[in-house]
Amino acid sequence: MIVKEAKFSTKSIWAGEKDSLAFGATQVPVVHSVSYGYEDMDEWYEVAIGNKKGHIYGRNTNPTVEAFEEKIRILEGAEAATSFSTGMAAISNTLGTLLYPGDRIVSIKDTYGGTNKIFTEFLPKQNVEVMLCDTGDHEAIEREIKKGCKVLYLESPTNPTVKITDIKRMAKAGKAMGATVIVDNTFATPVNQNPIDLGVDLVIHSATKFLGGHADALGGSVCGTKELVERIYHYREINGATLDPMAAYLLLRGMKTLKLRVDKQNQNAQAIAEYLKEFDLVEGVYYPGLEEHPHHDVAKEQMKGYGGMLSFAVKGGIDTVRHLLPKLKYANRAANLGCVETVVGPARTTSHVECTPEERAAMGIPEGLIRYSAGIEDIEDLKQDLQQAFKALPKNMAVRS
Ligand SMILES: *Cc1c(COP(=O)(O)O)cnc(C)c1O
Repeated sequence: MIVKEAKFSTKSIWAGEKDSLAFGATQVPVVHSVSYGYEDMDEWYEVAIGNKKGHIYGRNTNPTVEAFEEKIRILEGAEAATSFSTGMAAISNTLGTLLYPGDRIVSIKDTYGGTNKIFTEFLPKQNVEVMLCDTGDHEAIEREIKKGCKVLYLESPTNPTVKITDIKRMAKAGKAMGATVIVDNTFATPVNQNPIDLGVDLVIHSATKFLGGHADALGGSVCGTKELVERIYHYREINGATLDPMAAYLLLRGMKTLKLRVDKQNQNAQAIAEYLKEFDLVEGVYYPGLEEHPHHDVAKEQMKGYGGMLSFAVKGGIDTVRHLLPKLKYANRAANLGCVETVVGPARTTSHVECTPEERAAMGIPEGLIRYSAGIEDIEDLKQDLQQAFKALPKNMAVRS
């Protein structure tokens, strides 16, 4: 048993695995079996109705998946956890469990693009009223919460302009109105932020990103109170967005190095954010670790590190982006984030591809905004890479000052 007092990196390595080990193996096996056999009809029945621990059918539970759930539960300091095939499945199943026709949800305009689509396209069709407030406008969010809401849904830092919401303050306002308060903690990771300590009910992750960390497996998780997580688990076991055991294994393996990776990504992102300010062609750098970030103080209060994600806007918009990004040697130009390699991409092609240019403009996302997910490469190589890419731009685009 992992001791409660163990530090984060110790927990990330040891926590949650013991019950899933077999044959004296030191590593959790990938159990591909779809079902579990019982010779004793009474024992089978006891497991099936939940009176006895065990597994019945892979859509409901699986030993490899359970180890993943237990690890994230312990890292987030939650009572319970369940898992999903993707981060979006975690979000849609959670909202599907909690919201009924006639309910009202309050959230922010800057949630992940897919989440924003649930708010603008799917929930209204189910007669759920959605109120999206300006991200970071705490008074406006509080006003809307006071009008009554079943769910308060937050994300901090946000994608792609890394805005910060005061989670403790908003959770207090939400709880006072009897709302279920949810935070998407994907960008921060449990290394940098523990929303449950800040008063929220449910913490969601796209495990596809930092938790897995190697961009080779999709998954999602929800952590929170036993009562809520059991209801969400029930919704998922019936609706079927189950995490695959092979993906669970890869995520589990990735999570063992979570602290090492995220500490390095925090450092690299901070250094890159500061470095980018030196370039004439960069007209804005967005990173909560910069003192000039509008919510730097809130971030400092509620986060242990500022995260591996930043973004920056270049002069000349998408035309400059088109020239600059292909010149980077140590970066994948791709839609994912949070992995060991540095990943870059225009926001209009990645996080907010589902949105129209007008919708992006309304969210304050310039067409020339580049999202930068810092990897764990050597910082000197990453800086030099940016410098050579800026230098190699056509002469009519500004060069480094
Ligand atoms: C990627 C992402 C999601 C969706 O996760 P998938 O695993 O791609 O479904 C949700 N929220 C945030 C903040 C994300 O970055």
